[in-house]
Amino acid sequence: MTHTTDVAIIGAGPVGLFAIFECGMMQMKCHVIDALPEVGGQCTALYPEKPIFDIPAHPNVLAGDLIAHLEKQAAPFDPTYHLNQKVVSVQKRGDLWHITTSANVEIQARAIIIAAGVGAFGPKKPPLENIEAYENKSIFYFVKQKEKFRGKRIVIAGGGDSAVDWALNLAPIAEKIYFVHRRPKFRAAPESVAQLEALAAKGQVEMVIPYQLHSLKGEKGQLEEVIVKTLKGEERALPADTLLPFFGLSQNLGPIAEWGLSIDRQHITVETGTCATSTPGIYAIGDIATYAHKLKLILTGFSDAAHAAHAIRSYLHPDQVFHFEYSTTQGVPGQ
Ligand code: FAD
Repeated sequence: MTHTTDVAIIGAGPVGLFAIFECGMMQMKCHVIDALPEVGGQCTALYPEKPIFDIPAHPNVLAGDLIAHLEKQAAPFDPTYHLNQKVVSVQKRGDLWHITTSANVEIQARAIIIAAGVGAFGPKKPPLENIEAYENKSIFYFVKQKEKFRGKRIVIAGGGDSAVDWALNLAPIAEKIYFVHRRPKFRAAPESVAQLEALAAKGQVEMVIPYQLHSLKGEKGQLEEVIVKTLKGEERALPADTLLPFFGLSQNLGPIAEWGLSIDRQHITVETGTCATSTPGIYAIGDIATYAHKLKLILTGFSDAAHAAHAIRSYLHPDQVFHFEYSTTQGVPGQ
């Protein structure tokens, strides 16, 4: 199926969603493509129930709620979402960009905004035999609803913020938590580590250190034991029904790296003030874009989206003079 639009946005994370609004305010229609089945990028896939504290005018907003608000803010501009499909190729023919997705959808757009975050991301998986059989049944790489883990015997593995934060969050509702880490040093916020150690001292979390995941025991995808080992070969079998490995995200630009854009260490280099890439007509915003002193925050991604939308309007209408208007003056459709 082929669609035609003003702007194709690759990535429906928080920044891609806000770009719909900004483009809409410039009278540009958007089609948005995302590899994930839901909008929201990292906020939805990795931490929907975590509060975010640095969104202006929202002293405390759950990541999932922020995404719901952004979707609502974009809705008056009638975006078309193409979810569950990756953009696999981008080619210029005449004045239009032709974007093809893994679901064989073709979108013809006058400009492209890449808001692809860390690329098509996925969890770094531990190298355990037959792990696929347990995935999404008793092994989970993300916690979407913590209630699902009430009363469970859980092995949490890793030494970074996600592992420590989820041990703290799940300890009050889990039957048992084993915290497996290969060394006594953590890469998490010191305050959180102190809280974890306090829980361990009270017996609410059992620290299994210095151990590494070794193998899995269970049937039909349901874990019964997680076997861990030290480097010296000492082995323990942890009776558990759930394993949460938190070893970070694999960052992979995937096909984006092949589109001839200027790339610096897995990020797309853009001009400050316009977010224009090295290819005219293609813009990059949010986590995937880099420029001097870039901060990888949702806040700065929103600002990138505004810059890109203004720049695209001028790029598409080079002969027109535009007058800057506040949203308070302009209003939005239906409000
Ligand atoms: P993303 O959210 O990464 O979304 C990009 C989307 O693009 C993804 O949905 C992906 O599937 C899609 N995509 C990629 N490649 C393709 C392709 N080829 N085809 C189709 N789709 C593609 N930031 C803050 O400002 N404050 C915080 O408190 C905060 N806390 C955080 C806590 C955690 C645990 C984590 C992991 C991050 C946190 N962040 C925080 C960072 C914040 O989530 C990111 O800065 C933000 O998500 C970036 O938004 P984005 O839209 O640029 O990219």
